[in-house]
Amino acid sequence: MIRECSLEEISDGRTYRENDMVKADTAGCGGCHKCCTGMGNSIILDPYDIWLLKNFSEGMKLTFEQLLATGNVELNIVDGLILPNLSMKGQDRCAYLDADGRCRIHDVRPGICRLFPLGRVYDDKGEFSYFLQTGECAKKNLAKIKVKKWTCLRCPEKNREFVTAWHALIRIAGQKMVEHKQSGRGEKLQELAMYILNEFYVADLPEAAYDDAGIVTIYETLCNKIKNARESLAHF
Ligand code: SF4
Ligand code: SF4
Repeated sequence: MIRECSLEEISDGRTYRENDMVKADTAGCGGCHKCCTGMGNSIILDPYDIWLLKNFSEGMKLTFEQLLATGNVELNIVDGLILPNLSMKGQDRCAYLDADGRCRIHDVRPGICRLFPLGRVYDDKGEFSYFLQTGECAKKNLAKIKVKKWTCLRCPEKNREFVTAWHALIRIAGQKMVEHKQSGRGEKLQELAMYILNEFYVADLPEAAYDDAGIVTIYETLCNKIKNARESLAHF
């Protein structure tokens, strides 16, 4: 979720890149699951998150409809777009938390979960840095760790490329939604929302995660789709 607030209010005032050291290491959380509770519908999932959940969560391969049917993910309207988020299943805790308070999908957890207590902040050009959310993690005196080690992404450069492109697409789509709303073109609102939902979440993407060089091909697939979608947005 994009928040409009002052970085100074919610962070240590610094921003970080993948190779910087940051005080974010919780050393395994020790059974705490505070950040997996009480999030409402704020953990919005991007197409890479959903691809992981569809293909690699809990030993099943699911279509998007089947994933929704588990009740672990739900759809909500965000700035006019229909986007998926982690579900609380009507309770105050993430549907993927097990009875012992552990994440059942730790290896394929969504990007926002992977970052915490880091977050992303975007500049005017749409480039992002990481920031440390102070006062959010239940643990005190977090240890220093390199950002890319904490986020534990297999291909941080490709991830950055994808996240940046996706953020830009969603921004542009959101602006289009505002324009359609202001001009009373309700049919266009629905058409655009369904296009993003179908193209990036419902559509099945290739299962193959890595090419021969170990590069994550899914990021390339997604970035190509985003490029095509940006051209298509001109027609909405
Ligand atoms: S997916 Fe896992 S890490 Fe993320 S909120 Fe749910 S239980 Fe916590
Ligand atoms: S609040 Fe901090 S220590 Fe607790 S689960 Fe979240 S990241 Fe771990």
